[in-house]
Amino acid sequence: MTTKQIAVLPGDGIGSEVTSVAETILKAACAAYDVDIQTKNFLFGGCSYDEHGTPVTDDTLNSCLQSDAVLLGAVGGPKWDDLPSDHRPEAGLLKLRKTLGTYTNLRPIKIYSALMGASSVKPEILEGTDILIVRELTGGIYFGQPRHTKEVDGDTVATDAMVYSKSEIERVARKAFEAARKRNGRLCSVDKSNILDTSRLWRQTVSDLAGNYPDVELSHMLVDNCAMQLIRNPGQFDVILTGNMFGDILSDEASMLTGSIGMLPSASIGDKTGLYEPVHGSAPDIAGENKANPLAAIASAAMLCRYSLDLSDAADNIEAAIDDVLATGYRSGDIYASTQGEILIGTKEMGEKVFGELKKKAITR
Ligand code: NAD
Repeated sequence: MTTKQIAVLPGDGIGSEVTSVAETILKAACAAYDVDIQTKNFLFGGCSYDEHGTPVTDDTLNSCLQSDAVLLGAVGGPKWDDLPSDHRPEAGLLKLRKTLGTYTNLRPIKIYSALMGASSVKPEILEGTDILIVRELTGGIYFGQPRHTKEVDGDTVATDAMVYSKSEIERVARKAFEAARKRNGRLCSVDKSNILDTSRLWRQTVSDLAGNYPDVELSHMLVDNCAMQLIRNPGQFDVILTGNMFGDILSDEASMLTGSIGMLPSASIGDKTGLYEPVHGSAPDIAGENKANPLAAIASAAMLCRYSLDLSDAADNIEAAIDDVLATGYRSGDIYASTQGEILIGTKEMGEKVFGELKKKAITR
C-alpha cells in the first residue's frame, strides 16, 4: 500500500458540500489500487479571511506545495464582495496558482449520453464529443507588459501586450502532447498565426516538438475557425492546445456543449503540485441545502488520479461510475428535466450513488 497526501480546500458556499463527497470517492477509487489517500483540510477563501484575515495563509500554501495534489471546492460569496481586492477570496486563488506554478489548465468537455438533451446543441452534433482543452494559464496577454492606459495626443489609449517566449510555449505544449498520448493521440494546436507574431512562434514551436511525439497526430487551426468548428462538429477534436486568452474563450464556449456548469471538472498543473477543482463557483443561492451537483468535483477527483497520481484506471472507474449513475436516471436539480425516468436527488445521495457504482467496478477489476 502506498500513501498519498492530498490537501483539501473546501472553500466557501457549496465548496464544502461537493468536496466532502469527492474526497470519499477519491479514497475509495484509489484504495482499489492499493493507494491510501490521506487528506488534510485547510480554510481557503472567504472562510480563511474570516478566521485569519487573509484568503490564504502561508501555512496553507506550504502544505499545498508539499502535498501530492490539491483538491479545491470553490471560493467567494456576497459576504466578501466589498473587501479590498488583495483580501478577496479570488486573490487567494491567484496566489495559490502562482505558488503551485500551474501554467497548464486542463478542461475536459465530455458529453454524457444521458444528458444529451440538456445541451442547447442538437444531439446528433454532440454525438461522440470528448475533448480536452489544454490552455496556457500564466502567460500571454493577461500577463504581458507593458499594460497601461494613457492620454496620447488628446485621446485615451489603452495597451495590453501579448507576449510568449519559446520556453513558455514548449512547456505547455509538452503537457498537451503527453495528454494526447493518454487519450486518442490527436492534438490540434489553435492560434491566430495569419495575424499575430506570438501565434507564429506558437505554431513553429509546437511543430518543432512534434518529432518527439511520433505517436501523436498534430494539426493546426486558426482560432476563429476553431470557435466555429466547436459548434459545427465538436466530435472532430481530441486534445486542443491553445494560449491563455483563446483558451479562456474557447473553453467557456465548449463548456456550453455539456449543458450544465455543475458537470465540468478542471485541473491546473505545472511542474509542482497539481490543483483540481470544479469549474463552477460557490453558488451561494443553493449553499447548505444539499442541492449542489457534486459530479464536477467528483470528476475533478478523477483528473487528480490521472494527472497527479498516475492512476488512470482509478480515474476511468470514477468516470464510468458517473456515467452509470446518470444512465440510471439520477439527477441533481441543475440537470433535472422532469422527464420520465429521471429521479431528483441531493448532493449526498448523488455521492452515495456514485460510490455504489464505483464499488461494483473495484470488485470486478
Ligand atoms: P456559480 O458558478 O457559483 O453559480 C452560477 C449558477 O450556477 C448559480 O445559479 C448556481 O446555483 C449554479 N451552480 C453552480 N454550481 C452548481 C452546482 N455544482 N450544482 C448546481 N448548481 C450549480 O457562479 P456565480 O453565481 O457567478 O458566483 C458565485 C460566487 O462564486 C462568486 O463569489 C464568484 O466570485 C465565485 N466564483 C468562484 C469560482 C472559483 O472558486 N473558482 C469560480 C466562479 C465563481
